[in-house]
Amino acid sequence: MEKFKLIALPYAPDALEPVISAETIGFHHGKHLQAYVNNLNALLPGSGLEDLTLEKIVCRSEGGIFNNAGQILNHNLYFTQFRAPQANNVPTGQIAEAINSQFGSFEAFKEEFQKKGATLFGSGWVWLSVDKEGKLVITQEPNASNPLTKGLTPLLTFDVWEHAYYLDYQNRRPDHLAALWQIVNWDEVNRRLHT
Ligand code: MN
Repeated sequence: MEKFKLIALPYAPDALEPVISAETIGFHHGKHLQAYVNNLNALLPGSGLEDLTLEKIVCRSEGGIFNNAGQILNHNLYFTQFRAPQANNVPTGQIAEAINSQFGSFEAFKEEFQKKGATLFGSGWVWLSVDKEGKLVITQEPNASNPLTKGLTPLLTFDVWEHAYYLDYQNRRPDHLAALWQIVNWDEVNRRLHT
């Protein structure tokens, strides 16, 4: 039986338009993420990792199991952090306070986050995480990596694999990253900060 299942989207496939098209969601969630789920379910039997949570598998595996488990965890966090575009969508609550006190302003934070996303060579992810002392950290993670492997708690991520934006933005990765702020669900980011 299959241990892991494709996560359900908390919105309609076209809900994120025009920032992310329904077509991109269809491929990204329905094809790419589904393939990672299928691959991991096929690789797990006999690995000794069958009974672990997804997070523990990511922290304890390598090779094909790590790549597929990491991509499932990354995409589950990615797809559940969005909502329909809103005008003037800015951080709220505790994450707003933390961003302002550590980066000076939301604008300064966005600039650093987008720069780290735009300059990540090849495929990967840019992450906002919180460390064990409560300090915010922005990291670039290559390929399937996740900040959990560094002892950080992931809060927010932008996917810079080309499959995340090529249908809608072609080679304009920086434009895609800049548009994503319209759909970040800061309530979900605050929930992750508190857990
Ligand atoms: Mn992706």
